Amino acid sequence: MTRSDELFEQAKKTIPGGVNSPVRAFSGVGGSPRFIEKADGAYIFDADGKKYIDYVGSWGPMILGHNHPKIREAVLKAVENGLSFGAPTELEVTMAEKVIEMVPSMEQVRMVSSGTEATMSAIRLARGFTNRDKILKFEGCYHGHADCLLVKAGSGALTLGQPSSPGIPEDFAKHTLTATYNDLDSVKAIFEQYPEEISCIIIEPVAGNMNCIPPIDGFLQGLRAICDQYGALMIIDEVMTGFRVSKSGAQGHYGVTPDLTTLGKVIGGGMPVGAFGGRKDVMQFIAPTGPVYQAGTLSGNPIAMSAGLAQMEALCEEGVYEQLAAKTQYIAEGFKAAANKHGIPMAINYVGGMFGFFFTSEETVTNFAQVTKCDTALFAEFYHMMLDEGVYLAPSAYEAGFLSLAHGEAELEATLAAADRVFAKLAK
Ligand code: PLP
Repeated sequence: MTRSDELFEQAKKTIPGGVNSPVRAFSGVGGSPRFIEKADGAYIFDADGKKYIDYVGSWGPMILGHNHPKIREAVLKAVENGLSFGAPTELEVTMAEKVIEMVPSMEQVRMVSSGTEATMSAIRLARGFTNRDKILKFEGCYHGHADCLLVKAGSGALTLGQPSSPGIPEDFAKHTLTATYNDLDSVKAIFEQYPEEISCIIIEPVAGNMNCIPPIDGFLQGLRAICDQYGALMIIDEVMTGFRVSKSGAQGHYGVTPDLTTLGKVIGGGMPVGAFGGRKDVMQFIAPTGPVYQAGTLSGNPIAMSAGLAQMEALCEEGVYEQLAAKTQYIAEGFKAAANKHGIPMAINYVGGMFGFFFTSEETVTNFAQVTKCDTALFAEFYHMMLDEGVYLAPSAYEAGFLSLAHGEAELEATLAAADRVFAKLAK
């Protein structure tokens, strides 16, 4: 028994399933999770002292690599002044200005402590602003675990085979309408049915919770036009894509302007941070200026703001996103080439610093139905063999992979060499 196995058994006695977030339990691939002791650069180290090249990056935040000196120093400096004040700070003003500079559609921004809080608050705001109850989301997209958003959601819920969760009253879920990703006609049909009842569309601009599915040409622009036609707000959920797909997020990459944007992960540099923001007239509807209530005891926490700001400043340096995109393309194309070399069919998607690979003979994967037909048993086998090789991928066929700037040539080459050995064994 490894130390990770021992810790998992011990954890299950006091923590449901032994974990504080379901996907960490390895239910999607079987076996028991690695307990992590420390991380540095492109590597994480488990409780048995084994080192892995990490493509999870704490599920997205660690875009500079783990334990980056600039973030660590910013945090240590902030700690000296106290951990939390529950009163405004200059750091929050600097953070708001930085976010607005990087994502121009955000004219005002409110900080929260998680991606779930960001999307939940943005939806409440959209409902309050439009005075409409219904929302439209997409099958396979995950936006956190707020009641209205856990309807046919992906990520952990999907991995566990529970598209929606007990505990959510039908009376709540009925206000959530679900369309097909990359299918504008499915959206139009819903709006034709409820022309004056839909407050907003919420979308992952690159879906990262049903593996990695970029939008097809014109899809996001089409949603924008539908929102304008029916007076609904467009919420782009950039919790995963924000500051990862490009400096201005997926909205900058694809050239589409939402009314509201939600952020998380990268914005906190590894600390618990989220944010939502957008059009000033809409944001003014939030308390204390407006009637829609939203609050947070630890929102805008100085340590979290310091970590996030240090990371965002580093991301504004010249050439960062070109580098990240080149590394991502290299690893995704490399996986496909290695699989194909051994006669294993594979499709890939990648954009900016995120990627996905699919065990399927389809050439392209553009929606959730296709993702669910991929060979998850083969993925699980591949997953564990890569883990043995010292490569830590997301433990689910429904999650995107993440690159960091700390992944250098040595790590990328070692990963592809490991993949080549694993595919050779799987092909036998
Ligand atoms: N939105 C998206 C697109 C996400 O990927 C996630 C989490 O993975 C969330 C929202 C929820 O964020 P959090 O887990 O910080 O609550």
